Amino acid sequence: MSPPPILTIAGSDSSCGAGVQADLKAISALGGYALNALTSVVSETPGRVSIVRLLDAELVSDQIRILFEGFPIAAVKTGMLGGLTQVEAVVKTWQSIAPVGLPLVVDPVMVATGGGKLLEDDAIDAVRTLLLPLATVITPNMDEAAVLWGRPVTTRDEMTACAQDMSAEFGTAVLLKGGHLTGSAADVLCINGELTWYDTSRTPDVQTHGTGCTYSAAIATGLGLGLPLQEAVSQAKRYISAAIAEYFQWNGSHGTVHALN
Ligand code: PLP
Repeated sequence: MSPPPILTIAGSDSSCGAGVQADLKAISALGGYALNALTSVVSETPGRVSIVRLLDAELVSDQIRILFEGFPIAAVKTGMLGGLTQVEAVVKTWQSIAPVGLPLVVDPVMVATGGGKLLEDDAIDAVRTLLLPLATVITPNMDEAAVLWGRPVTTRDEMTACAQDMSAEFGTAVLLKGGHLTGSAADVLCINGELTWYDTSRTPDVQTHGTGCTYSAAIATGLGLGLPLQEAVSQAKRYISAAIAEYFQWNGSHGTVHALN
């Protein structure tokens, strides 16, 4: 049987650890057929961002449109969108073409671990007001959640309050990723006020470039395969935890680089 087509709308990472390349790996590994609509090209390696170039809005829309016309897309994720015109293009195209109820995972990517800005400041409001309300689930990390919520998110209690507030405000499920929590790497999922915690121990001293991208692509794949959201998140959490624990490592001329397995 042919696998369900899963579309990622995201940026290209030249080092293939994050961005669409990470998504293509996760979608393929978990039994989907990966499609991509590129929003941007980022010249980068883990921890170092050099040039960020955004693609024009017409090209972003056209990739999405032609893929929807050609394939029975089973789920979609958005990653790096880059700028206001790209966010608006994705929203407009989704509203004109996506079947009602199609799962949409929104990873509100803003800044790379290496410091590169992956979403322009004037696009944040459009993400909040136009894109988040369309999502089945949004997957912010603690920094992104703090920007979207307008308050700091540093503890488990703050994660709980933030996930509940954002879920009510945007009418979506929220998976708030606590990868930056001290101690374990615990994430909380809020669906209609109901909370589920996903705990794992942390793998120390690894530059886990691309974990957010991989995680959200894995969730979209689970949803595209028909799993309920809680199971799609469990499967994705197991997948990302193994990819981090079994990381690759090389010595480059700028030091050691890591990649997810
Ligand atoms: N580069 C691209 C193209 C991305 O889409 C993302 C995350 O979404 C990143 C880099 C961020 O990677 P990290 O913060 O894991 O370094």
